[in-house]
Amino acid sequence: MTARRLEGAEIARQIREEQRARIAELGAKGIRPGLGVVLVGEDPASASYVRSKTRACDDLAIFHETKHLGVGATTGEVLTAVEHFNRRVEIHGILVQLPLPRQVDARRVLDAVRPEKDVDGLHPDNVGRLVQRRPRFVPCTPAGIMEMLRRSGIEVAGRRAVVLGRSEIVGKPMALLLMHADATATVCHSRTRDLPSVTREADILVAAIGKPGLVRAEHVRPGAIVVDVGMNRVTDPALARDLLLPSRLAEFEKKGHALVGDVHAPSVQEVAGALTPVPGGVGPLTIALLVANTVRAAAGAA
Ligand code: NAP
Repeated sequence: MTARRLEGAEIARQIREEQRARIAELGAKGIRPGLGVVLVGEDPASASYVRSKTRACDDLAIFHETKHLGVGATTGEVLTAVEHFNRRVEIHGILVQLPLPRQVDARRVLDAVRPEKDVDGLHPDNVGRLVQRRPRFVPCTPAGIMEMLRRSGIEVAGRRAVVLGRSEIVGKPMALLLMHADATATVCHSRTRDLPSVTREADILVAAIGKPGLVRAEHVRPGAIVVDVGMNRVTDPALARDLLLPSRLAEFEKKGHALVGDVHAPSVQEVAGALTPVPGGVGPLTIALLVANTVRAAAGAA
């Protein structure tokens, strides 16, 4: 069996196009959605994610402004940047690109974002609302995955879902959303014993652990829906040969690096019923939902 490819990029494109119409409606009322981005340090991956997000804003004529602070920035300096965006009326959504450098108190920073501008859904107000099933803003990656499942006609209610990873930004909200959609949700993490026996129970398996290719065929029930959130850069040729589909090896030879997920695509695609590609799966959905949340924040502020 070869798994059906879940076209996250195409669904993301549809979501972004739908936003174009909403942005035009807001424009007619004199409102242009605005996103404030706080980026700290020089991590190339973070810089590249911010570029992708601001490019999506440019494409839809969403106003955006980035406060880029040095790698040595203090908690106070990052808080000042957040406060600046909290006060500005033309900024409706605030994104603090994670991870922040170690000396910065990330919790204090995320707590300082005004909940009505918290388009990443990480403020405790918004987390609490999600837990109570009356969400305002939901973290973009799990929200995007739910939208992909819905638009791909994948039934969630009554099915067994296993989420690998328990981060605030992906694993926990993912499990809540699946539970709220009436799946029976289980969360695994680094202390889970006999991981394959748990993940093999899943009709829907979401991998968000940051370990290249950890999820192999032995972890997957035949026919399961597998969602690969991982974004890992590999530079080692032996690892690349193991992890990449043959169709992507030429790209690796040319560039000397490649992006791989947490799922070992060559073996899992022979067992799974459906699989998201990396790249072109969950990543574009995350960006589309950030856009959607920013537009909603602007509409809410109107
Ligand atoms: P994170 O905060 O580092 O959390 C990783 C989670 O995985 C933790 O809960 C950890 O368990 C668990 N874990 C680590 N090793 C494990 C193992 N061997 N077996 C079982 N569980 C294990 O990561 P994150 O922010 O959620 O991100 C996860 C991955 O998704 C990364 O590759 C990241 O780049 C990617 N990501 C992609 C997008 C996108 O748009 N595509 C968005 C966000 C993140 P403990 O809690 O026990 O430590």
